[in-house]
Amino acid sequence: MNDQQLMRYSRHILLPEIDIGGQQQVLRSTALVIGLGGLGSPAALYLAASGVGRLLLCDHDTVELGNLQRQIIHRTSSIGQTKVESAVSLLRDINPEVVCVAIPQRLADETLAELIQQADVVLDCSDNFETRYAVNRACLQYRTPLVSGAAIQFEGQVSVFDFRHANIACYNCLFPEDSVAAELRCATTGVFSPLVGIIGAMQAAEALKILMGIERGLSGKLLTLNALDMKVSRSGLAPDADCAVCGVKCFAPQS
Ligand SMILES: [Zn+2]
Repeated sequence: MNDQQLMRYSRHILLPEIDIGGQQQVLRSTALVIGLGGLGSPAALYLAASGVGRLLLCDHDTVELGNLQRQIIHRTSSIGQTKVESAVSLLRDINPEVVCVAIPQRLADETLAELIQQADVVLDCSDNFETRYAVNRACLQYRTPLVSGAAIQFEGQVSVFDFRHANIACYNCLFPEDSVAAELRCATTGVFSPLVGIIGAMQAAEALKILMGIERGLSGKLLTLNALDMKVSRSGLAPDADCAVCGVKCFAPQS
């Protein structure tokens, strides 16, 4: 680390849990952020400010006026730009050392697999189940840790699936694909602005700890937050033997 970096990251280095070693690991890491909306905005901002070496940023959308109430990485002057382009311009301003790779497209399975193999951690900041299931399957396949977040109305949740370890639950164990009811979208039901900030910042916190080698936090757990009562709860996630994605039956020899 040079003098500029020692200064920039000094408040991390001062923390004994992180120290120079932890910060150096962050500088050498690659994080994939899927979705640059309400959750991806704060997540990408904190990852860039913290010095994550390479940020792979995916979103196929463009910035609209209705995004600006909560998607804090975008500005009024960015309306009409792609979200990745808008995000990259602010992230470069915050920390020019971070290599930002803009991926302004909807992820097909091959692209997703390719990106996940490059990443040390994946942040699912998407707003739809189709993406969440595809990301979960690919992270499990390549054993890449996944930090998943969601927020709607006043309810948010975060969980970490650290696929580097064996016998852990996956996203599909928690919300089986065939049991999901009609999807609530914030476009039609609304979402409280700071809620996505809190959840997205928690995703960044969990991702950074994974990159730093700190094995404490939400791995194998689900945190839920009700931002109306400001009530937080945590529960453990057990792997489901019948899970269609990671369950033992998926890997059992065919008889
Ligand atoms: Zn599973």
